Amino acid sequence: MSFLNADLHCHSVVSDGTLPPEALAERAAANGVDLWSLTDHDEVGGQHRALAAARAQGMKYLTGTEISVTFAGKTVHIVGLGFDPDNPALVQGLAATRGGRGARAQEMSDQLAKVGTAGAYEGALRYVGNPELISRTHFARFLVEVGACRDTPEVFRKYLTEGKPGFVPHRWAALGDAVRWITGAGGAAVIAHPARYDFSANEEWALFTEFKAHGGRGVEVVTGSHTNAEAVRYAETAIEFGLAASRGSDFHSPVESHTDLGKLPLLPGQLTPVWELLADRIQ
Ligand code: AMP
Ligand code: MN
Ligand code: MN
Ligand code: MN
Repeated sequence: MSFLNADLHCHSVVSDGTLPPEALAERAAANGVDLWSLTDHDEVGGQHRALAAARAQGMKYLTGTEISVTFAGKTVHIVGLGFDPDNPALVQGLAATRGGRGARAQEMSDQLAKVGTAGAYEGALRYVGNPELISRTHFARFLVEVGACRDTPEVFRKYLTEGKPGFVPHRWAALGDAVRWITGAGGAAVIAHPARYDFSANEEWALFTEFKAHGGRGVEVVTGSHTNAEAVRYAETAIEFGLAASRGSDFHSPVESHTDLGKLPLLPGQLTPVWELLADRIQ
């Protein structure tokens, strides 16, 4: 089946998006999406609702998640598509990956208090839809609310990225574990938004090489996080490493996200779309 408008990356209130799965499905369908996936961070709790909502909107669906991984000292995101969301090893692996978020958030809050914003933990919690999934995005929304910054990108620049006063280093899942959880549950692992990582050429080569060796199948080429030039660059990387290509907006919120669901360029024609590898997993 050939899909023209596949959007295989977005977030609901089950992680750090602001819309419930049903509203995302409605918005995706209104924007012409014909194959959709909800990819909440480290969580599959929204998958059954998303599938039902996709069906109600007449869209095809692939299950999804976006796993936080630590590789070469940096955070990398691995999208999983087309897996069984009830697979025990996957469910347990994601629960373990979520496990450190509460303590990390407390530490972030302590650091933010020292630079002048008290009560950030409680404040961020008010934006959280899933208590196991408190993220930097929720802190960013609180810091905008109290007037510490104008918008969330400014919060990340000033407070929530490496070397800034609200940033707490964290160890996420190992790359091989994340890929195995996804593939062991019948899905395909995809490197999310590769242009966002601040890797040297050698580190990036190591990431793609190890990802392939662990059984990874794809890379996001067209995403809301890439410029056109970056899409061209990672189309070449996909071919070089024999990876399929994915396409996804990474939509989080009507207010915060620049790229709306389904509103992004098509995949370059010479690539194998990742959904072709997953034809028998489409629901
Ligand atoms: P966490 O998993 O708690 O480390 O939070 C990561 C999330 O923060 C990402 O999935 C994005 O939604 C958001 N994020 C990361 N960097 C930025 C940025 N520079 N501007 C806006 N949002 C960001
Ligand atoms: Mn996010
Ligand atoms: Mn991501
Ligand atoms: Mn994402």
